[in-house]
Amino acid sequence: MAVILDGKSLAQKIKDQLKQEVEEYIKKGLRKPALAVILVGNDPASEVYVRNKRESCSYVGINSLFFHLSEDTTQEELLELIGKLNGDEDVDGILVQLPLPSHISTSEIIDAINPKKDVDGFHPINIGKLATGQDDGIIPCTPLGIWIMLKHYKIDILKKDVVIVGASNIVGKPMSLLFLKNEDSTVTICHRNTKDLAKHTKNAEILIVAVGKPNLITADMVKEGVVVIDVGINRLENGKLVGDTDFENIKEKASAITPVPGGVGPMTVASLLINTISIYRQKMGFSKHPLTEV
Ligand code: NAP
Repeated sequence: MAVILDGKSLAQKIKDQLKQEVEEYIKKGLRKPALAVILVGNDPASEVYVRNKRESCSYVGINSLFFHLSEDTTQEELLELIGKLNGDEDVDGILVQLPLPSHISTSEIIDAINPKKDVDGFHPINIGKLATGQDDGIIPCTPLGIWIMLKHYKIDILKKDVVIVGASNIVGKPMSLLFLKNEDSTVTICHRNTKDLAKHTKNAEILIVAVGKPNLITADMVKEGVVVIDVGINRLENGKLVGDTDFENIKEKASAITPVPGGVGPMTVASLLINTISIYRQKMGFSKHPLTEV
C-alpha cells in the first residue's frame, strides 16, 4: 500500500513558514512582497485558479494586485500593461493566467515579461537557465513544487529511471530539465506520439504524468514499488475531480503516490509564493529563497 504524498498539508506548512518570513520583513520596516496577477476574460476554471492564488498570497502577506481584463482586450493593451508592471519597482512578480484568448499570442506575452519578474518561470531566459544548469533563473511552479515534495518525502532519485508522460512547456519539459540538472537520474519523456506508452511507464521507478486524460495510466502499466506523481486535473461528468492515473488500483502497487485533489495542485500554488518571495528577497539584497535551491 502506497504512502500518500500529501501535497495539501505540505503546502500549508510551507505557507505558514512563508507567512512568518514575511512578518519578519515587515518588522524590519520593509514593504510587503507584491505579485501582479493578470486575468484576461472569464474562463471559470481560470477564475478559480486566480482566486486560489490570490487567497494564498493574502494568507502569507504578499500584496496581490489584480488586473481583470475583458475578453476583447487587445494584445497591444496587454503588452502595455506588462510594460508598466515591468517598470514598477514595487512589483516583484508578474503572473499572466493561461490560457489567453485565441487572438493573443501566448509566447509573445510570455516573452514580454521581465525575466526577473517571471514568477511562473515560463520565459525562454528562465527555461534556458534551467536547461544550462544556471542557478539564477526562476523555476516553473509545478516542477518546483514536485521537486520540493520529492525532497520532503525523502524519495531517492539517485540513478533512478524517471519517466515523464506529457511534454508541455509548463510541466513536462521543465520537469525533465530539473531532473537532468544534477544528472542524478535517467529521464525519458513520453508524448502523444510515443509508440508504446506502457513499455516506458512499466520501466519507471518514478513516474510523472501530466497530460489531462483521466485513467490514462492504469495499474497494469506500472511496476511494483513505483513512485507516482499525478499532475493531471480532470473534471468528470459527475463533477468529481480526478488525475490522469487510476489512483485506487495503482496505490496497491506503488510505494508512493499523489492524490488528486490534494497532491501537486497545492504545491504549485506554494511554489508561486516561494518564487515571488525569492524575487523580493533578491531585490532587498538577501539571497534567493532556500526552497528554490534544486
Ligand atoms: P498540455 O499543455 O495540454 O500538455 C499535455 C501534454 O501531454 C502534451 O505534451 C500532449 O501532447 C501530451 N499528450 C496528449 N495526449 C497524450 C497521450 N495519450 N500520451 C502521452 N502524452 C500525451 O497540458 P499541461 O498544461 O502540461 O497540463 C497537463 C495536465 O496537468 C492538465 O490536466 C492540467 O490541468 C494539469 N495541470 C495541473 C497542474 C497542477 O498544479 N496540479 C499544473 C499544470 C497543469 P500534444 O501537445 O501533442 O497534445
